Amino acid sequence: MKSLQGKKIIVTGGSRGIGSAIVKHLAEEGAQVCFTYSSREEAAQEVAKSLPGTGHFFLKMDVASEESVNSAIEQISAKWAEVDGLVNNAGITKDQLLLRMKTEDFDAVINTNLRGTFLMTKALTKIMMKARKGSIVNITSVIGQTGNPGQTNYAASKAGTEAFSKSVALEIASRNVRVNCVAPGFIATEMTHVLNDDTKKKILEQIPMNSIGEALDVAKAVRFLLSDDSKYITGHTINVNGGMFMS
Ligand code: NDP
Repeated sequence: MKSLQGKKIIVTGGSRGIGSAIVKHLAEEGAQVCFTYSSREEAAQEVAKSLPGTGHFFLKMDVASEESVNSAIEQISAKWAEVDGLVNNAGITKDQLLLRMKTEDFDAVINTNLRGTFLMTKALTKIMMKARKGSIVNITSVIGQTGNPGQTNYAASKAGTEAFSKSVALEIASRNVRVNCVAPGFIATEMTHVLNDDTKKKILEQIPMNSIGEALDVAKAVRFLLSDDSKYITGHTINVNGGMFMS
């Protein structure tokens, strides 16, 4: 039997990069997946076409907007009576040194990465607590653990998400709903593709395993935390970073 057979799981930002690898891996492991995108519908359609199994669907949603989140939850609830898992993966970067960082770029990153996770977790927690089961996985980052020049907004959003996750985990553990994080290091996606060769070389020098990770490496850790194989794990962060940082 597949590890996620029969589970219904929502993945935000599932149209590209790490999110699309998560969506595909969960579907291969037997889950029915609802994933979201924010702007590129064609990319979402491509992912949907590639999925094995039935019952998958996707929605357009801005995780930073409460109205958009509420409307997505209504559409999901109309299809699914229960939800077994949520992956808060949608995330953005807007890098700049602090003294040059525009307030709107600070806010945009916090709103998508942290506020988006808050809005989705709050909505799904209600559904999961009622059913007395569920697993929430928040995608954070090694940068939230170490800090990084030029990423004050991003680091704050990811460190905030980790602290948020532990607090929610404590609030809802007694209802059999678990909350964990997966903290990737440097993973080959569009987010890292834009880095110049010099930056990539410097990054490789910091990775003890001497290679950039694959999106599937992250997806496998997420699958574990969504499955019953991790039924006694909550408030934890799994680092998928080739040894860059050991918390
Ligand atoms: P990508 O930029 O490749 O993909 C981001 C995804 O998020 C897309 O599906 C995008 O949809 C969606 N998205 C963006 N903004 C919103 C929004 N406001 N509302 C809903 N969805 C949105 O990112 P990655 O795959 O690289 O990153 C995924 C996660 O992993 C992020 O949380 C990131 O911080 C984290 N991470 C990534 C690392 C890396 O090395 N790549 C390292 C550590 C952490 P659309 O295309 O439609 O806009």
